[in-house]
Amino acid sequence: MVVAERKINVSFAENITDNYISASQKIRVLSEDWVLNQIYCPNCGAVKIYEYENNKPVADFYCKKCNEDFELKSKKGKIGKTVPAGAYSKMIERINSTTKPNFFFVGYLESFYVNDFFVVPKHFFISEIIEKRKPL
Ligand SMILES: [Zn+2]
Repeated sequence: MVVAERKINVSFAENITDNYISASQKIRVLSEDWVLNQIYCPNCGAVKIYEYENNKPVADFYCKKCNEDFELKSKKGKIGKTVPAGAYSKMIERINSTTKPNFFFVGYLESFYVNDFFVVPKHFFISEIIEKRKPL
């Protein structure tokens, strides 16, 4: 039985990044665009999720139907046991807040193809699994 079929485009839309200079900015824009256009709400199944305005501290995306928040983490290559996620204190603050987001993880290849995507529901994020990065 086929319940639902959805064709997923696995390549980033590279032509949208002309105005972005740094590689990290470019990847952020490309991967956010990809999620926005390919991923439905994993919580309630709504066909579309929406993007928060840039630099909103809450999260990257939200669902208008169930109000869940989603944060995107992208990484080149294979996603291993740990993923760099910015400042430790900020992350702890986020996962202990009432607006704790769910997480999307995207692994991509050099040629801007998505080779991995998964969702980690927010209740799996507890402060004990956040590692402090060693100082440089
Ligand atoms: Zn939803």
